[in-house]
Amino acid sequence: MERVIGIDLGTTNSCVAIVEGGVPLVLPGPSGQRAFPAVLAIDDQGQRIIGQTARRQCVLNAEHTATALKRLLGLRFGHPQVRQLSEMVAYRITSGPSDELRVVLRNEQYAVTELVAALLLDLKKAAEAYLGQPVSRTVLTAPLAFSDAQRIALRDAARLAGLEVLRIIADPIAAALAHGIGTSEHRAQRVAVYDLGGGTFDFALLEMSSGVHEIRASTSDAFLGGQDFDRRLLDYLVFGFAKDHKIDLRQDRTALQRLRDAVEKAKCDLSVDEEVTIEVPFIISTGTSEPLHLHRVIHRTKFEELTEDLVERTIQLCKGALSEAGVEPRSVDAVVVVGGMARVPRIQRALTELFGRVPMGGVTPEEALAIGAALQGAALSQTPSASTTFELSPHHLGLLVGGGKVFRLISAGTQLPHEAAHIFTTARDHQTALRLVVVEGDSEQASDCKILGEFVYSGFLAASRENTEVEVRFSAAQNGDLTVTATDLREQRREQHTFRLSASLLSSETDGSKSPMGSYELETQRSDELSRNQNRAEQLISDILGMLPRAEQAVAGSELGLDAMRRARSAIERARIAIIRGESVAIIDARQVLERTAAMLRGVTASLR
Ligand code: AMP
Repeated sequence: MERVIGIDLGTTNSCVAIVEGGVPLVLPGPSGQRAFPAVLAIDDQGQRIIGQTARRQCVLNAEHTATALKRLLGLRFGHPQVRQLSEMVAYRITSGPSDELRVVLRNEQYAVTELVAALLLDLKKAAEAYLGQPVSRTVLTAPLAFSDAQRIALRDAARLAGLEVLRIIADPIAAALAHGIGTSEHRAQRVAVYDLGGGTFDFALLEMSSGVHEIRASTSDAFLGGQDFDRRLLDYLVFGFAKDHKIDLRQDRTALQRLRDAVEKAKCDLSVDEEVTIEVPFIISTGTSEPLHLHRVIHRTKFEELTEDLVERTIQLCKGALSEAGVEPRSVDAVVVVGGMARVPRIQRALTELFGRVPMGGVTPEEALAIGAALQGAALSQTPSASTTFELSPHHLGLLVGGGKVFRLISAGTQLPHEAAHIFTTARDHQTALRLVVVEGDSEQASDCKILGEFVYSGFLAASRENTEVEVRFSAAQNGDLTVTATDLREQRREQHTFRLSASLLSSETDGSKSPMGSYELETQRSDELSRNQNRAEQLISDILGMLPRAEQAVAGSELGLDAMRRARSAIERARIAIIRGESVAIIDARQVLERTAAMLRGVTASLR
């Protein structure tokens, strides 16, 4: 049977694993290393290079080397994280026609999904080379904090790489699974997952029993990680060097990159040794005298002193999340660590002090997520229908209400099966029908969510708003069925419809497996066009709303005129629905109607001047 690969796409490094004979196995890359640097570059020959080779040439080709791509996935240009990241990297980040991100390498613009797809394709190829057979299915892990758009982008990238995504599991759950938690029939275990990688920190508190995983609390800092620890050590060395030689090493890009590498290596060595020597020969040439060397002995206590506040910040974040969940640190049953930084002895000590127990060992912290994903993949491939079962609701579920907002009935991450109900009144007096639009997504704005379906619940007795009470009940089952029942509480008349939850908002019907990059272009063209039409429609809606009061004043008393105004309002309504649903054809139609309406209103209001 074809194997399912577990992939952890990292910010710094990625990792890929499979399960063989029930045992998880982390796969090696071409040169034997198990960590795949998540780096992609275009060299001066215009060739695309990936992974270790790309990382090695990073110093000399920094402007054309894309790093930390995971941080950009699924974000729009205006997102604050994009601004922050663009200040930290040497390559250029720009925006496409609809505010989507583009990475510029050698004057060529690339979509982030396309570059991430190339990284995933590299992992897929490594797995195929190791297994000697094609691989087409994967389970991916993603940070808990990933929005729906980010998850969609991740799934998109995998699809471009020719991988069918069976499931995207949350990082902390993958980590716990890798440690064998949540698989036994025993009582639920309370698990703290501390994840400190190269650039991000995440903490989650889980409650896990056989097949049921609940996220009790979580917190994260998107800009706190190993790099901050490196920077402290780097600054210490740079200032020391400046004091001795009156030279600021940060002004020399090559010197700085060499120092960065040396510092990171020293940090890693300090996880084992009490003392390390940092040596960078010929770090800089002054032009007038002999080239200078950097030589410095660093003791672990110095490193701990330089980074104490960073460790403390992570601990405070853990404490905050625990107290929000009302959980005493000492009542946690297991502490799981993820990310290379978890090896730092000071961090291990801080966690032991906080939880009163030593973090679990046995699984390499950088490999835990890929192992958890591979275990989940193996479980899914054994149960044919398992890929369509849901332990947790994948997204928030709710109803579209006034102002394009979502009224949430079931939150993302709720353990299924689950039922929730709310009593609604009608918007107007004597209304005898209600349109129930069932949406799924991670936003409060319906336009950012997916419409699962809708139905009109009608035939209840006309009454004033206050006297109309319709209970809407959501019952989400583990098989992914969402049954929505509307009941008029006076008449007890009931209507029920069943919808299907999506594992992701991406429709799996779109076939990208044949020519990944080709189909990608089609996708972006389509979505660019969609965004353009949508933006224009939104602009027109706002223009029309601005003109309507004056126009209504102008046509007051004319039945024909008032009818035109009603049509204008209904054109807006239709356009809004088309936008919420993201239906491109309907949006184009609506846009044309809006253009005509706006022209008509301009004429009417002009007559007032
Ligand atoms: P990850 O994102 O999980 O790959 O973690 C990468 C971060 O872990 C980087 O900042 C590495 O420098 C750091 N790291 C890796 N190995 C060690 C180690 N042995 N001791 C301390 N930090 C490490």
